[in-house]
Amino acid sequence: MIDFEPPKPIAQSSVALQTVAENMMRPVSRYFDEHEHEIPWNYINFMHMAMRTTGAGSLAPRERKPKEGEEQKEKRPPIGYQALTFMLEILSWGDVGIYLVTPGGGLGAAAVEATGTPEQKQKFLARFAAEKPTFGAMAMTEPQAGSDTAAIRTTAVLDPKTNDWILNGEKIFVTAGHKALCESDGFVVVWATIDPSAGRAGMRPFVVEAGTPGVSVTKLEHKLGIRASDTASIVLQDARVPYENILGSAEVVKEAATTKGFKGAMATFDATRPLVAATGIGVARAALELLKELLAQQGVVIRYGLPRQKLTNIEREVIDMEIMLRSAWLLIIKAVWMADNRKHNPMEASMAKVRAGDVVTKITQKAVEIMGPLGYTRDYLLEKWFRDAKITDIYEGTGQINRLIVARNVLGYTGRELR
Ligand SMILES: Cc1cc2nc3c(=O)[nH]c(=O)nc-3n(C[C@H](O)[C@H](O)[C@H](O)COP(=O)(O)OP(=O)(O)OC[C@H]3O[C@@H](n4cnc5c(N)ncnc54)[C@H](O)[C@@H]3O)c2cc1C
Repeated sequence: MIDFEPPKPIAQSSVALQTVAENMMRPVSRYFDEHEHEIPWNYINFMHMAMRTTGAGSLAPRERKPKEGEEQKEKRPPIGYQALTFMLEILSWGDVGIYLVTPGGGLGAAAVEATGTPEQKQKFLARFAAEKPTFGAMAMTEPQAGSDTAAIRTTAVLDPKTNDWILNGEKIFVTAGHKALCESDGFVVVWATIDPSAGRAGMRPFVVEAGTPGVSVTKLEHKLGIRASDTASIVLQDARVPYENILGSAEVVKEAATTKGFKGAMATFDATRPLVAATGIGVARAALELLKELLAQQGVVIRYGLPRQKLTNIEREVIDMEIMLRSAWLLIIKAVWMADNRKHNPMEASMAKVRAGDVVTKITQKAVEIMGPLGYTRDYLLEKWFRDAKITDIYEGTGQINRLIVARNVLGYTGRELR
């Protein structure tokens, strides 16, 4: 049987998350959009406390031990990624910029999850349950390496005397980089090359912790949207990290067609792309709901069930937007269901991201267009959501790059054969 209902624990936590989105995020949405680089500590502290208490936001499966006399129930299917997906969609409906400062491991933890050993996961991820809010981030992008991740120039060289790795390079556009390094005891997973002659085979992720000498945040971006989220530039100058902070093996095998280090980067994206897609869906849903509310106030009610030719143009457009939203959501659910069940999902992850990027851009643009001046002015959040939307199609692989990945998977080409 196919069941499209969210599992019970997800449905229950969704109600609480919706309350947070409505009461803690929406009322300050405009403020943090207009006061870029101010930090929403009330939200951060509240979420940290709530997540510590409930364990929400973690990918670790929560097993309930049976009480005395109670029989061990059948093992539940894993739902960690699905739970995160619902959580991110709802919080992004509240405010996607503020959601991006939710304390926790973020992309950094996703990289540790995808590439670290069980011991490294235990060691590096434990800090997110500490008393104070702690942040993780991931730094891949460099001034000359965006979509082409294999072009990174940041180097990591092993010092044989101390057994430390010495990192040098510049990373840009690091989401939550400032919070990870300057506002908490967090870390940034920095992708560097341990053998520049080896291309992708030489790429490795390193955990660079807050307080590491030689690491500095040099810039915070001023952005079009998601302005509550910090986007940092980070310079590494002879930054030393202990040997064991390299995630995975230090061995370089140049002959391998797709190499281990690069595979680690791709595995991280397979896990996070559907989650980014879910944030876009949250923004799109917010815009569509407000649009319908404003239309209803003007006496325009959507007459579902009528033949298409009897509908007005606006009714048809709203119905089409709903179809787009729901179809994108189904692609996301499939991709995260696969992630939960440890199925290889690069194509599904990229499909979900492409579709969500398109859908959120179109829906927010249409909402502004249909409402005219009401959509364009700051009286409502429609213009803000229009600005917040575009990033869904840029970070974690642009729409074009994710389309390439889908094409490679459909046609059976390697990255070298179809670029
Ligand atoms: C707000 C924000 C937050 C970010 N957060 C992070 C983060 O936390 N960590 C991190 O590492 N990075 C982050 N990024 C960087 C982001 O992932 C990159 O901007 C993105 O991968 C694109 O790289 P680029 O900007 O260098 O563009 P380019 O790679 O230079 O691309 C420019 C254009 O060319 C297109 N293009 C490139 N190659 C091809 C191709 N082969 N075929 C067709 N079209 C192509 C692209 O789709 C794009 O439209 C962030 C970016 C922003 C704006």
